[in-house]
Amino acid sequence: MTITAETGLCAVIGHPVGHSLSPAMHNAAFRAAGLNFVYLAFDVTDVAACLNGMRALPSFRGLSVTIPHKMAVMPHLDEVTPMARLVGCVNTVTNQGGRLIGSVTDGAGTLRAFAAAEVQLQGQRILFLGAGGAVRAVAYAMALHAAPHCITILGRTPGKVRTLAEDLRRDASVPIATGCLADDLTGSLASHDIIIQGTPVGMHGHDEGSSPVPGNLLRPEHVIFDMVYRPRLTPLLKNAVRAGCRTIPGSDMLLHQAIIQFETWTDLPAPVDAMRDALDLALNQGL
Ligand code: NAP
Repeated sequence: MTITAETGLCAVIGHPVGHSLSPAMHNAAFRAAGLNFVYLAFDVTDVAACLNGMRALPSFRGLSVTIPHKMAVMPHLDEVTPMARLVGCVNTVTNQGGRLIGSVTDGAGTLRAFAAAEVQLQGQRILFLGAGGAVRAVAYAMALHAAPHCITILGRTPGKVRTLAEDLRRDASVPIATGCLADDLTGSLASHDIIIQGTPVGMHGHDEGSSPVPGNLLRPEHVIFDMVYRPRLTPLLKNAVRAGCRTIPGSDMLLHQAIIQFETWTDLPAPVDAMRDALDLALNQGL
């Protein structure tokens, strides 16, 4: 590709772990779509200056925002989508002629991951493990757009679980129940269809090799979605496969939220296969 003043720029700012997978997916997408675009990673400390720079560069089309900047960018944007306001953070910035629009793609990406796996959410009983930022994004998307029968959130810090549940009850009409991961897991697993693992347990470098769900509690009727994507096949997913459950890996969420970013920045359909292949390769290479 030839770099010119017209070359579209997209980038990621935030935690270095996020850097290696997003450039792989987005640069593969730009190549496959024949776009003169490039996606880079920047270590940024002054978020406001970074966004002002973006405003001043018309070819700087899109920004992925990861930890620790997801909330810090919000006051510096010209517009924040209603979903990002509800979720309380932004992971995507789109430059529309110098106006910076903040949005969040994690929830919508997860809905697409479920649709791609042909797993129905409507009328289902959904159990979330964890009550952090990723669970908040996905729970809001499901409560507002997927019409489940009910949602239950189990966490280890009661105040955080309560706050998320109260917010969801205020903004959505789906019944929301809460509980404690340590005490209510067994009973909740028996009464729910879709289990969404949203804690870092099982993640590379963080309780690696552990599962938050004992394998003997899994039933073939369960659908198990583990948000952890490194390793790709987490201990929970391994147990779920053994128990005969349908599974959705965290990498599907990562892929589909990036697909939405591509579409938002370029107004083009995403080259999904190229993005999936690039993500597979990057994960297999341990990036
Ligand atoms: P977060 O905001 O820090 O929330 C983490 C949640 O897990 C909190 O509820 C926390 O409880 C709980 N938790 C942490 N360690 C625990 C443990 N040992 N036992 C039980 N609960 C524990 O993090 P996040 O951004 O939501 O991310 C959560 C996971 O999702 C991470 O593994 C992340 O990599 C993954 N993720 C994946 C994608 C994707 O695209 N696939 C996107 C975003 C996040 P406390 O509040 O009590 O600390």
